Amino acid sequence: MSQRQSIRGMHDILPSETPLWQWLESQVEAVLKQYQFEEIRVPIVEHTEVFTKAIGQTTDVVEKEMYTFEDRSGDSLTLRPEGTAGVVRSVIQHGLLHPPGQKVWYHGPMFRYERPQRGRQRQFHQYGVEVFGLAEPVVDVELMAMIERLWQRLGLSSAVSLEVNSLGDPDDRARYRQHLVDYLTPYAADLDEDSKRRLQTNPLRIFDSKIETTQAIMSEAPRFGDFMGDAARAHFEQVQALLNDLGISFRVNSGLVRGLDYYCRTVFEWVTDQLGAQGTVCAGGRYDGLTAMAGGKDVPGIGLAMGEERLLELIKAKNEPLPMASGVYWLGQVPVGELLAEAEALRLACPHLTVGSDLVGGSLKSQFKRADRSGARVALIYGEAERSQGIVQVKDLRSDSTQQSVSKPNLAQYLSSLFSTQS
Ligand code: ATP
Ligand code: MG
Repeated sequence: MSQRQSIRGMHDILPSETPLWQWLESQVEAVLKQYQFEEIRVPIVEHTEVFTKAIGQTTDVVEKEMYTFEDRSGDSLTLRPEGTAGVVRSVIQHGLLHPPGQKVWYHGPMFRYERPQRGRQRQFHQYGVEVFGLAEPVVDVELMAMIERLWQRLGLSSAVSLEVNSLGDPDDRARYRQHLVDYLTPYAADLDEDSKRRLQTNPLRIFDSKIETTQAIMSEAPRFGDFMGDAARAHFEQVQALLNDLGISFRVNSGLVRGLDYYCRTVFEWVTDQLGAQGTVCAGGRYDGLTAMAGGKDVPGIGLAMGEERLLELIKAKNEPLPMASGVYWLGQVPVGELLAEAEALRLACPHLTVGSDLVGGSLKSQFKRADRSGARVALIYGEAERSQGIVQVKDLRSDSTQQSVSKPNLAQYLSSLFSTQS
């Protein structure tokens, strides 16, 4: 059985679904380019310590979600559970931390051994961006503005909302940590098992708990805001002022801590109420100490990541037809070899047009069915009558407009203008 099934939580993306993925990806990449981000591609597998050092030993990801294995020479390797650690490793290795202002994006599958459910897979796909070397609040805000621009483009502005918080600087957090432990210790017996353990190892992370009784205890906990130092406070205030200047609405959520250890100062998430429990679609924050911790020069950094599966769910929930159908499909009752020759001539004349031709033949009805299934927008009908008159019938498969006869020498020109006005 197992040889005929994909691994639990790891899904095939079938030809019927890839057009939507490709559409999403083209939108995301257009926005990234507009903001001068450049693509970086790093391996899917890294030495395990690339992740344990960066993400933190006491995080969910490192404690229970990584796919870690030994290779044949006994080295411990891990399938990447997130993108930042590998990108940081790469920019250090290749000396890209200087000059400041490197802006990169990445994209691809991530792997986490989690309980598969709606919006949660074991292989999922993220887009992520990282900016190195820039410490100013305006950098944080440009990132958030970029993602707001993306929501606009995807038609998701009203489906998601922005939450921001500041985790301050490491010294602030150390002071706060003690207060949090003092508050939580009397409730220790009422916390869930994970949170009990975290009380010793990583108490801030208890804010991340999805267990209701724990959440109730946390809702009364002292908030970090009261412990934030002056520098971090000024940074956070400026972030908020700049967001206001740009007219970007947001909510300060003082319980927002983020699941990975490397964050400091500004953290942010876009959340939705349309995806059940898995409500975060995009999340990120500042990680000013990370490059030094990973063995590189100590430069500030900030990044974010978003899950494609959750975005696609939101897009599908809108139920709007997307402009997917494209290209043409040759059909008609002539030998299929003749259709193929016409298709080849058109591919040469129109290099950007998607051109199919019927490879099976048979009744016109069955050929039209295949044309429809192919996703083409237009059928090019070429039978014996058309051949003898030197014409092609052009029929729009996706609207009720009437069929047009076009002379063969004019066909390429006709289709070029048809598709430039339709797309
Ligand atoms: P969650 O709280 O939902 O577990 P997270 O804090 O672990 O999220 P990040 O590590 O910040 O998530 O990853 C950024 C984004 O990647 C998430 O907002 C989400 O859209 C997506 N994501 C994370 N884990 C998964 C998963 N297992 N399946 C699908 N998407 C995921
Ligand atoms: Mg998680």
